[in-house]
Amino acid sequence: MVQISEVKGNSRENRTAAHTHIKGLGLRADGYADKVSGGFVGQAAAREACGVVVDLIKAKKMSGRAVLLAGGPGTGKTALALAVSQELGTKVPFCPIVGSEVYSAEVKKTEALMENFRRAIGLRVRETKEVYEGEVTELTPEESENPLGGYGKTISHLLIGLKSYRGTKKLRLDPSIYEAIQKERVAIGDVIYIEANTGAVKRVGRSDAYATEFDLEAEEYVPIPKGDVHKKKEIVQDVTLHDLDIANARPQGGQDIMSMMGQLMKPKKTEITDKLRQEINKVVNRYIDQGVAELVPGVLFIDEVHMLDIECFTYLNRALESSISPIVILASNRGKCTVRGTEDVVSAHGLPSDLLARLLIIPTNPYEPDEIKTIIRLRARTEGLVITDPALEKVAEHGVRTSLRYALQLLAPSSILARVSGRKEIDVIDVSECEDLFIDARRSANIVNADENSIH
Ligand code: ATP
Repeated sequence: MVQISEVKGNSRENRTAAHTHIKGLGLRADGYADKVSGGFVGQAAAREACGVVVDLIKAKKMSGRAVLLAGGPGTGKTALALAVSQELGTKVPFCPIVGSEVYSAEVKKTEALMENFRRAIGLRVRETKEVYEGEVTELTPEESENPLGGYGKTISHLLIGLKSYRGTKKLRLDPSIYEAIQKERVAIGDVIYIEANTGAVKRVGRSDAYATEFDLEAEEYVPIPKGDVHKKKEIVQDVTLHDLDIANARPQGGQDIMSMMGQLMKPKKTEITDKLRQEINKVVNRYIDQGVAELVPGVLFIDEVHMLDIECFTYLNRALESSISPIVILASNRGKCTVRGTEDVVSAHGLPSDLLARLLIIPTNPYEPDEIKTIIRLRARTEGLVITDPALEKVAEHGVRTSLRYALQLLAPSSILARVSGRKEIDVIDVSECEDLFIDARRSANIVNADENSIH
């Protein structure tokens, strides 16, 4: 039996945790950026350029091309790439990686790249199912003598009463539903639906919490029983191609999309082979042709792209040409450097010229002190932290002198120090203590250097 359950992509939420305040590019309808909008502060020209990229993607004019965000650390490159994916719609995959991640002992570099390409391509599956839906008014297992003789009784049927605005209907169901009902912990008063074909059961909510709706005319809450006893329901599932790859790396189950998805929950996996990917592409294409599924190209963000080598760049070039490709956004804070994997090819951002030729390059600029202060205040608010004005000034100074990253990183530990001292607000003293406990990279390197010099 197919169990319908919510599918969660192999999300790597921790990667985007620092950007929860970003809600899009924050552009006006005419494409211009307000100074503070969508969780963004400043960086207006880059946001506007990203807005044009979003328009190009929507007009399907980005194929074979990619974007490069070029600018110093902490100038919002990751935040911009995330915002582009948000502008493309909800449930659009965003897959951020760092160039150096492709080097591992277990997986080939190009294999690792391919995996991330597939993480960044979504598939939206719409299926219309016939369902029984309503509030449970009765749950009675019907028993009969054990047909094999012997002792005890077996459950032969399950009687379910379902109430909706159309009235109450009694269904006599197969005993296998009983298991599904128990698994979902369905009780009287729950609103559920039962899929007619497969017998999958899903709890939608409690009727008491669920069955009230605000009636604007009467200006009072009117309780109404929800649901329709027998109806067609559209079920939408969002998965990534990579989800399907892992789900099917275990050789079992059917080839239909629902059982492919049903396997997502099973943790153990075997290897994902090229052949398997091709098989999955075939099935996916068939579903697209039938109009059951649609591709949702997301954003693959590769930070520190100069860490990739010439082999990876060749692969990237080819992958960009493919008919199913995500939007690729690269980022680098390097100027001219040697292309990794070559002896002496020196080029902009360490990228080979054939790849450079495909890129729309968007620069990101360092922030003004008042912008840094606003970003830090925004972040503190998002993290639910209260900070005094002088303490905010002090953190912001670090943002100006050291880096925005370092300044933002001081917030959480400072709040812990404040709490330990029994204060609700982060004060200057907490920030000072924190900067002694946790030093920034430059100070750290200087200390180690000084030690080395004194030893030799
Ligand atoms: P790196 O080069 O180190 O990868 P980056 O350029 O990708 O850095 P981000 O990680 O995007 O920089 O920015 C650092 C932090 O500052 C993040 O929490 C990000 O959300 C926030 N941030 C950066 N720019 C802005 C901005 N213009 N408005 C609001 N928040 C920002």
